[in-house]
Amino acid sequence: MSTNFSFWNMACQQLDLVAKRMDLDPNIHAKMRHCQRALVVSVPIRMDDGSVKVFEGYRVQHNSERGPTKGGVRYHPGVTLDEVKALAMLMTWKCAVVGLPYGGAKGGIVCDPAGMSLGEIERMTRRYTSEISIIIGPAKDIPAPDVNTNPQVMSWMMDTYSMTVGYSVPGVVTGKPVEIGGSQGRMDATGRGVATVLIAASERLGLHPAQSTVAVQGFGNVGSSAAKFLHGKGFKVVGVSDVGGGLFNPRGLDIPALLAHVKKNPKKRLEGFGGGEYVGDHDAANARLLAMPVDILAPCALENQITAENAGAVKAKIIVEGANGPTTPEADEILSKAGVVVVPDILANAGGVTVSYFEWVQDLQSNFWDEEDVNRSLDRLMMRSFQDVYDVAAREKCDLRMAAQILAVSRVAKASALRGIYP
Ligand code: GLU
Repeated sequence: MSTNFSFWNMACQQLDLVAKRMDLDPNIHAKMRHCQRALVVSVPIRMDDGSVKVFEGYRVQHNSERGPTKGGVRYHPGVTLDEVKALAMLMTWKCAVVGLPYGGAKGGIVCDPAGMSLGEIERMTRRYTSEISIIIGPAKDIPAPDVNTNPQVMSWMMDTYSMTVGYSVPGVVTGKPVEIGGSQGRMDATGRGVATVLIAASERLGLHPAQSTVAVQGFGNVGSSAAKFLHGKGFKVVGVSDVGGGLFNPRGLDIPALLAHVKKNPKKRLEGFGGGEYVGDHDAANARLLAMPVDILAPCALENQITAENAGAVKAKIIVEGANGPTTPEADEILSKAGVVVVPDILANAGGVTVSYFEWVQDLQSNFWDEEDVNRSLDRLMMRSFQDVYDVAAREKCDLRMAAQILAVSRVAKASALRGIYP
């Protein structure tokens, strides 16, 4: 990743393009270009060796005009305030595009969880939660998992918040285990949603699953479950990558066997799997993966992956963004000229926050749904949202990213106009 890349500037640049295209009220546009609230916290914890280490954490709420704010928390050495602000803005658009009654937020801690013990991660999570507890809550801002956070981390967040207020508050975070108020289907929700919109997009282009090849960048929660669903639908997954490297097999990877391998591998990596050619160099594997002669490319890792430098090498017909912000606006332009259809992040990966919303509703009502009900509601909402975006694209004669943003920004703008400015 180039060091001068600003994800926040990129998110604002995308907003400016949309604002211009839809002739957005400049006062509302100006408001949207700022985050409503950003909290920077220091997170001192005792490490296992007895020393004290201080981590930096953030929680940013971009816009709450459509409801309480919502968004994940990521643990990564590359986390910055700039990045978290951008991700919070993307959450505002994401919730609006699928019609959830939320605004956008995001959180993060600058840390490398791979080098920390479980106890250290627990103490860091609890202290971070305590520090941000002044601005989160089931009616205010509801965190969830993101890069390197999981149901266990959400359990600690829920417990810490509950201990502070003196009673159990399951609705304060989503992505929890089902035993403490989590939802059926949440773990697979983002990957399932990615697969649903991808299938809808491929149908429009006349691609058939059984004849289509896919490359998936990232094999975390999103990439691995997207690969699982696509494999199950008959797509041939010919390349995948993770932080360690990439795995390639032109005849198609045996995804269920690969998932089993990663699950039992102590480092949870692709390395060591027999059913493909393994490239153990992260950068080389990613360069090869992004340029594979496949029908579909699914970037499901981090932002700023498909850029002006490598977009020209993309051979896929469809890109479906499982990650947030994987494609820069410059790359978008190159891809669009080359006729590549990009299903944008705010639509493609909205399955996660959608089932988070279902989880929150179940928690508030103490009334829990079957997995079938969750999946049916998710599929219906993803399909309807894809169609809504597709219709805007046809009406406005624009690409799917512009269409999704027009839909999202117009919904937020309407709420903003109705509520007016306080005082
Ligand atoms: N971190 C996920 C995202 O980027 C999920 C957010 C949520 O469930 O609130 O969409």
